[in-house]
Amino acid sequence: METAKSYALPQLPYGYDQLQPHISKEQLTLHHQKHHQAYVNGANAILERLDKARKEGADFDVKATLKELSFHIGGHLLHSLFWANLAPAGKGGGKPTGTLGTALEKEFGSFDRFKKEFSLAATSVEGSGWAALSFCRQTNRPIIMQIEKHNTNVYPMFTILMVIDVWEHAYYLDYKNERAKFVDAFWNIVNWDEVNKRLERIFK
Ligand code: MN
Repeated sequence: METAKSYALPQLPYGYDQLQPHISKEQLTLHHQKHHQAYVNGANAILERLDKARKEGADFDVKATLKELSFHIGGHLLHSLFWANLAPAGKGGGKPTGTLGTALEKEFGSFDRFKKEFSLAATSVEGSGWAALSFCRQTNRPIIMQIEKHNTNVYPMFTILMVIDVWEHAYYLDYKNERAKFVDAFWNIVNWDEVNKRLERIFK
């Protein structure tokens, strides 16, 4: 058994200016260093509270605490997936090939149809949330999730292959209230190699 540790903010696999013009340096820096960091800190603070309560034999509000913990851990894990499924401008976008390309064509009929459904899932999230492409091992089908906040509507055990953050904090500096413009821009910087690798890992 390995030693328990805290959550940590992952480094971005590219520079803060490398997603421009689709995501500005200012927007990405704020999103990563302030918003993502807040979920890491939030999750760690709750875990520390749990440790303390257990050591002291003290009671705590289990329902409220677990709800809050799910929110912060969900936020941390989804942001970590998001950074990794983006690629520097000029190096991402286009169409997926390989196992993923085939899987999407089989399920949705065409890549364009998938892109349309995923974009609609992203633009229509009520309030703050995410669209995620996931994969169900029981049916061998890719399925789109529309996640509210960081943890609502999640299918337990589905592997998440790709996400887009459509909280306003993800795009307001660049696109103001125009979420659809941000979703359009996202397609230019998707790292399909990474998304395909996540799918292929399922079958190994
Ligand atoms: Mn975010």
